[in-house]
Amino acid sequence: MKRRDFLKKVGVGTAAAAAATTIGAPAVIAKKSYRWKMVTTWPPKLPVLQDGAERLAKRIDTLSGGKLKIDVYAGGELIPPLGTFDAVSKGTVQAGSGAAYYWAGKETATQWFSAVPFGLNAQGMSAWFHGGNGLKLWEETYAPFNLVPRPGGSTGVQMGGWFNKKINSISDYKGLKMRIPGLGGKVVAKAGGTVVLTPGGEIFTNLERGVIDATEWVGPYHDLRMGFYEAAKYYYYPGWHEPGTYLEYMFNKKAYDSLPKDLQQIVDSACMESEQWTLAQFDANNGAALQTLITKHHVQLLRFPEQVLKDLRKLADEVVEAEAAKTKQATKVNADFQNFRKVVGTWGTVSERAYYDIIQKNYPLSR
Ligand code: CA
Repeated sequence: MKRRDFLKKVGVGTAAAAAATTIGAPAVIAKKSYRWKMVTTWPPKLPVLQDGAERLAKRIDTLSGGKLKIDVYAGGELIPPLGTFDAVSKGTVQAGSGAAYYWAGKETATQWFSAVPFGLNAQGMSAWFHGGNGLKLWEETYAPFNLVPRPGGSTGVQMGGWFNKKINSISDYKGLKMRIPGLGGKVVAKAGGTVVLTPGGEIFTNLERGVIDATEWVGPYHDLRMGFYEAAKYYYYPGWHEPGTYLEYMFNKKAYDSLPKDLQQIVDSACMESEQWTLAQFDANNGAALQTLITKHHVQLLRFPEQVLKDLRKLADEVVEAEAAKTKQATKVNADFQNFRKVVGTWGTVSERAYYDIIQKNYPLSR
């Protein structure tokens, strides 16, 4: 199509433009400017997460030539952190940033789009979203809430957490007071632990004063900044409860649908770029932070014993199955997730896993 025919067709500068607007046909190229608000569940200046939301807004502004500007507010600045879902759903604001497992109370199925204990890692989650049915199912799950979700990137495998007593067997979880959210928390509770949900800002004090015996947070990069090494002796791995936690961007469906196609695709592309950027930040910074924790702060890095992981996995399977039975959508999402896990897991065993085994053998982690 020649440019002038194209312009004619979309009706730029002609009476057709007014007609197209009247009948509600979506424009292809943005003619007017938009100003949106994005609220997040993150504290101000939180590296990667809040930074990522602000970076996304800047990218969209630049890519759209200033036609879509998004003002980003950290958790509590405009809306309480966990009010994000409702605020975007109702159209109080047009966009949000968080993690889908925060919204389990709205629809159990949301948890699968963020973290499933012993579930998919970052690579597997990305494959499920963009190469499998993951994103389609996520859109379907959010549609009744007038929301359009977009994957916001992964933290990678998280750490198992900070403990003041060793975990030698599953019975060591009995009576253990641990800050651990989501499905992982349900698994710890099933193992006999007491799950405490502490806001991020209070975790350190609670750990230091013995209000909790253990906590998990994210990975070395974020945990180092929280100073947990001053309040706990042992740093356990791997984060079986959050093997590839995905973050999210969400948009009010009416606001998203009202955008011309070019701005919609700019939003989608910028989200996907942010997805890659986010994982890269974690991968680029976690290793160095782990070395600092071990060499400078003398943290004892411990791996969960094999039998403990085996026992936790059994409990996790029971928890996931019980959660999946709660709603029709959760049953559907879990069935697709489990099937996908089997398929990509088989490939991962002969690709990434085999490769990591060689790396570990020849270039072990320096202490
Ligand atoms: Ca975590």
